[in-house]
Amino acid sequence: MFLLATYFVLGAIIGSFLNVCIYRLPLEMSIVSPPSHCDSCGHRLGILDMVPILSYIFLGGKCRYCHTHYSARSLLVEVLTGLLFATAGIFYLPGLPLLTVFVFFSCLIIITFIDFDHQIILDKFLLIMLVDGILFHFTYTKHSALANPYWDILWGIGVGGGLMLLIYLLSRGGMGEGDVKLSFVLGFWLGLKGVIVCLFLAFVLGGVVGVLLLASGIKKRKDPIPFGPYLCIGAYLSLLFGPYLIYYYWHFFAGV
Ligand SMILES: [Zn+2]
Repeated sequence: MFLLATYFVLGAIIGSFLNVCIYRLPLEMSIVSPPSHCDSCGHRLGILDMVPILSYIFLGGKCRYCHTHYSARSLLVEVLTGLLFATAGIFYLPGLPLLTVFVFFSCLIIITFIDFDHQIILDKFLLIMLVDGILFHFTYTKHSALANPYWDILWGIGVGGGLMLLIYLLSRGGMGEGDVKLSFVLGFWLGLKGVIVCLFLAFVLGGVVGVLLLASGIKKRKDPIPFGPYLCIGAYLSLLFGPYLIYYYWHFFAGV
């Protein structure tokens, strides 16, 4: 329990860094300079203004200097990263395998929010996920008998990426190029079964949310609805809960 709480705090700290990446990288700004400041009054933030989660709560979501309200999004990203890290800690042993999963989840969060805001998926994070995935498979194979065999990884890449490439070609612009590239990388990470679970969840979630957005009039038919966030949610659920999801799916829906 103490270990999981530690992972949550670590996740929240990383989450406040992810907030900086999500905000600055699509605008091609540096993530180190200028130092963190209030976007409204420009006041440089002190250490007490930047404690993950707590600063937001104790300052009431406002700037200490000019009292401008900040969006709750930064708080959401910090809490979410904390939760993702803590849940990863339940399934992976401390060490390199867990570290690679932390990096993977951090990339998923960055891709989700940047795609949501700007409808783009930055190649640099796909590359980080790819290198991180090589490390994950390499270390995980050494640590567990449950590791994906290499043919399963190849099938994952082929089926996951291939299916999305087909949809991309058939839909002529209905699916983004970034979504296809992301699916290849997720296939590499998740293997065959994993990537099928991931895509299934992404299409179901994306479909339900898409219908709700259209029905409620928030989005029009022609508005772009980013698919990256759903792929990322699917990837998270698939990596940690994939085998359980497959079991329950067959149990309840197929009656096996
Ligand atoms: Zn301010």
